[in-house]
Amino acid sequence: MSERILVLLSGGIDSAVALWLARRKNPLGAIYSLSIDYHGRSRGEDESAARLARKAGVTSHLKISLPFLRDSEDLPEREALTHRGSRLPPVFIPARNLIFYSCASHVAFSVTANRITVGHNREDVDRFPDVGSSFIERFNELLRESLPGYDLTLEAPLINYSKWEVVQLALELGVPLEDTWSCWGPGDLHCGRCEGCHARQKIFREVGMKDPTPYESINIP
Ligand SMILES: [Zn+2]
Repeated sequence: MSERILVLLSGGIDSAVALWLARRKNPLGAIYSLSIDYHGRSRGEDESAARLARKAGVTSHLKISLPFLRDSEDLPEREALTHRGSRLPPVFIPARNLIFYSCASHVAFSVTANRITVGHNREDVDRFPDVGSSFIERFNELLRESLPGYDLTLEAPLINYSKWEVVQLALELGVPLEDTWSCWGPGDLHCGRCEGCHARQKIFREVGMKDPTPYESINIP
């Protein structure tokens, strides 16, 4: 039976793989992608999401703007936020996934989707508090209470995958990795210097693939 799926698409590798996976599992159904714009999100990331959506042949690529949302590094209480004894990365947006999943639920209902797919991987669970199977299960409980009688489930099919496994799956699925975005900077090109770019360079090295990314500068740690 074909489904109607809404994929949260940031433009990063993980959400791109989630989109291609949704397409493979649901070749005849409608697939929608949703990008959420917020303060400081780069144009490069936004354009990556739009390119990926086009190449995946989605029914419609939707965008919503939440300009009040900020990374914790822009906020005064950033030092208070910890997860498993470590400080959160500066790119963490407080209450991010409660907000993103809630917005996605509203959009899913409006396009009559019955599944929301997100692209978190196992390493995100170690880094962020609002990711992981139990968080998603509890969100689904709230969703059932919020939309009684409507069949809608949020799923994270990559939650047990390492980043290496996600990229292996990307290669198997034919995801155009050159169209994905990993940089934390504001530019139109990957900066080549931030933690996001370093992680991108590292994963391409680890899977033995030539990095297709044009960087502003290369600064391999
Ligand atoms: Zn960068």
